[in-house]
Amino acid sequence: TLAACGGGGAGSNDDDTTTGGGTEGGAEAGGLIGVAMPTQTSERWIADGEAVEAGLTEAGFEVDLQFAGDDIPTQQQQIDQMITKGAEALIIAAIDGTALSGQLQAAADAGIPVISYDRLIRDSENVDFYVTFDNFQVGVQQATSLLVGLGLLDAEGNEVADAPAGPFNIELFAGSLDDNNAFFFFDGAMSVLQPLIDDGTLVVKSGQTDIEQVATLRWQQETAQKRMEDLLTAQYNDGSIVHGVLSPYDGLSRGIITALQNAGYAVDSADKPMPVITGQDAEIASVKLIADGVQFSTIFKDTRKLAQQAIVSAEAYLNGEEPEANDTETYDNGVKVVPSYLLESDIVYADNIESLLVESGYWTAEEVASGV
Ligand code: BGC
Repeated sequence: TLAACGGGGAGSNDDDTTTGGGTEGGAEAGGLIGVAMPTQTSERWIADGEAVEAGLTEAGFEVDLQFAGDDIPTQQQQIDQMITKGAEALIIAAIDGTALSGQLQAAADAGIPVISYDRLIRDSENVDFYVTFDNFQVGVQQATSLLVGLGLLDAEGNEVADAPAGPFNIELFAGSLDDNNAFFFFDGAMSVLQPLIDDGTLVVKSGQTDIEQVATLRWQQETAQKRMEDLLTAQYNDGSIVHGVLSPYDGLSRGIITALQNAGYAVDSADKPMPVITGQDAEIASVKLIADGVQFSTIFKDTRKLAQQAIVSAEAYLNGEEPEANDTETYDNGVKVVPSYLLESDIVYADNIESLLVESGYWTAEEVASGV
């Protein structure tokens, strides 16, 4: 039910702009911080943006929060404007991780620290810090949950002694190739799945196992739906069925589910039961689908914690300090290894929605029940 953000033209400074002017935060208050988020089509980025804005405002900063409607020139212009307005730090979740070099050079020239938010900004020396989740581990968790759903692993991730022999037909989906995370998710997942593909337990019937073949530009739901429809038509018209689908993001999962439902798959069907479908972000519509047994799992990344980490990091820079990293090896952006702070994620199944999402206050029981 979230409205898509319109592209926004050159120099647009429209309703998406939210400026928190709070100064009640205390002594070292002040300073403008620019927060650039990719899109409002996915609820996580709205939550991220709002959480970062609220925390910074509370800490006494001014905030220029912008969403770019998944349009690269719009994001470039928004960041240019933040620099022009005198931002003292930038927190950026890039649409295309390679498209911001000009903006980052301008930031560096002006002495503005840049924090890469969730997605690594690539091919630039002018990225000071990276706050994110352990993205490889997210992929491991996605694949693990797929195997749990197929009955090959138990909920603790241990092999099941009398597991079904298979083979299981699966299909793979990946995210957007301009998002560095897509590679980490896919590589993490394949580290778990590849041995089982090699030994024949899992069969990717389409044969499409390279990330280039299974990627989804800009993470778009419709694109995933179309690809799933095409796979069903081309590969599963011989009476065979799909048993599992690796999906890296809930929006894609919903497109995949629509394609499957249109082809007759259903939770209660004897001949075409819903395959095991994974996801990411614990979007509310998908949490309801998990509660209803339609989607099998998602990955919960607590965006409140990520926002908090971004705020702490920005504050460190403005106090003349370096933010604390807990990983200084993993995230090579093509020019340098960016010091990072990685957070942990959790696998959500129907039976832990309550403990992970409701008890932590991420979603209310009413939201889970209604899916909005
Ligand atoms: C984020 C995911 C999200 C995806 C699509 C990725 O960069 O890490 O949480 O599902 O983008 O928005």
